[in-house]
Amino acid sequence: MDRHIDTTCVQGGYTPGNGEPRQIPIIQSTTFKYDTSEDMGKLFDLEASGYFYTRLQNPTNDYVAAKIAQLEGGTAAMLTSSGQAASFFSVFNLAGAGDHVVSSSTIYGGTYNLFAVTMKRMGIDFTFVPPDCSDEELHAAFRPNTKAVFGETIANPALIVLDIERFAKAAHAHGVPLIIDNTFATPINCRPFEWGADIVIHSTTKYMDGHGAGVGGCIVDSGCFDWMSHADKFPGLCSPDESYHGITYAEKFGNAGAFITKATAQLMRDFGSIQSPQNAFYLNLGLQTLHVRVDYIRKSAKKVAEFLASHPKVAWINYSDLPTDPEHALQQKYLPDGSCGVMAFGLKGDRAFANKFMDNLKLITIETHVADCYSCILHPASHTHRQLTDEQLKEAGIPHDLMRLSIGLEDTDDIINDIRQAIESAC
Ligand code: PLP
Repeated sequence: MDRHIDTTCVQGGYTPGNGEPRQIPIIQSTTFKYDTSEDMGKLFDLEASGYFYTRLQNPTNDYVAAKIAQLEGGTAAMLTSSGQAASFFSVFNLAGAGDHVVSSSTIYGGTYNLFAVTMKRMGIDFTFVPPDCSDEELHAAFRPNTKAVFGETIANPALIVLDIERFAKAAHAHGVPLIIDNTFATPINCRPFEWGADIVIHSTTKYMDGHGAGVGGCIVDSGCFDWMSHADKFPGLCSPDESYHGITYAEKFGNAGAFITKATAQLMRDFGSIQSPQNAFYLNLGLQTLHVRVDYIRKSAKKVAEFLASHPKVAWINYSDLPTDPEHALQQKYLPDGSCGVMAFGLKGDRAFANKFMDNLKLITIETHVADCYSCILHPASHTHRQLTDEQLKEAGIPHDLMRLSIGLEDTDDIINDIRQAIESAC
C-alpha cells in the first residue's frame, strides 16, 4: 500500500503484532540470549539475521532506522551516536588511506574539520569545490583514486542549496556515489535519492529529534549504486572481507544491503559509535511529529524572514524562500514546499550593536544549536569565532555582522515582536 510521508512519520518502521506494544519498545539490553551455540554462530557468520551485542545492532534502533529509510525512500539504514559519526562512517565505509573524496566547500564546520584535518591524518585527501563551480571545475576535482562526493542539501551555516542532480551526475560519470547530508532539509522538504544521490546522512540531533533532547545520527542507503560495476574502486565492498570470514558484501547482500551491512559489521564493530536505544526511542517520538513541525517551522520562518527583509535596521538577509534570495531558484527545484527554519542576517551596526540586540532578546535564546523547537540565535563573531578579527572573519567567509537565527515552534508573532523590541532597545 502506498502511503503518504506523514503516515510514515507516525507509523513507519514498526508494526506491532497482536497484543504487542503500540509504541516502539526500548530494548535496553547489551546482549541477547540463544539456545544453541549454532544459533549464535550463524549470526556471527551473517548467515542468519538477529542480535547478539548492542555495540553493533539493537532492535529499538533498527525500528527507528527502518522508519528513516522509508522516509528517505532508501533500502537500508543505521543509527549512529551522532551526526559526526554518520558523516565519518559514510565516507570511511568507502575510502581509506591513499584515497580521495570530492566535497562541496559549503558544509558544516564540524564536518569540514573532520574531513580536512582528522580524516586527512588517516591518509584520505579531500578536494573542496564551491557548490556553484562550473562543470569543468567540478570534473577537474576528480582523481583516479576518488571514492565519493559529499555535500549538504542546505549548507550550515552558509544556507547554500546544493544542485544535487548536477553533483550526482558528476559523481556517477566518475563511477562513485554521491553522499548527501540532508539534516537541514529533512525528507519532508527534500528526498535527495529522487535527484540521484546514493547515500543520505543526518544529524538526527536537529529537526528529526526536534526537541533538543538527544544527540544522534543516521545513514541511509538508496540501494541504487551498483558496487560490482565499479568493483576495482570499492574492494571493501566487492572483495572478501578477511575480518568477516571472507564475506563479499556486494555479492551476499546486493546493492540494497551491502553498504549498511558493511558499515554495521565492520565500522560499528570496530568503532562502536551506536546510538543508545533510549535515545533512539526519543528520536522516534520526534519523527512522529516531523511532518507537522517542519511544515509549521517553514511557514513561520518565511514570515520572520519577510519581517527582517523589510526592517530598516537589517542590512541583509539570507533565506532561500525569499524570492530575492540568490538560492531561491535552486530551492524551488529541490524544496518546492519551503525551506528550513534557519536564516542568516546582519544588522546595520558594529559587533557591540549586535551584542546589545542579542542581549535584549527575551524569547529567542542564545545557543550553539539550531533546528529544534526553541528559537535560538548565534553570532559567530562573538561566539564560535570570537578570537578572529573582522579581517580574519572576512577571510573565513563569515561577515562580522552575521547572525544565525533558527526558528522554532513558538508563535510567529511572538518571535517577530521579540526581534522588533530587541532592535528598538539596542538603538
Ligand atoms: N551535519 C550538519 C548539517 C550539522 O549541522 C551538524 C551539527 O550541527 C552535524 C552534521 C553534526 O551533527 P552532530 O552534532 O549530531 O554530531
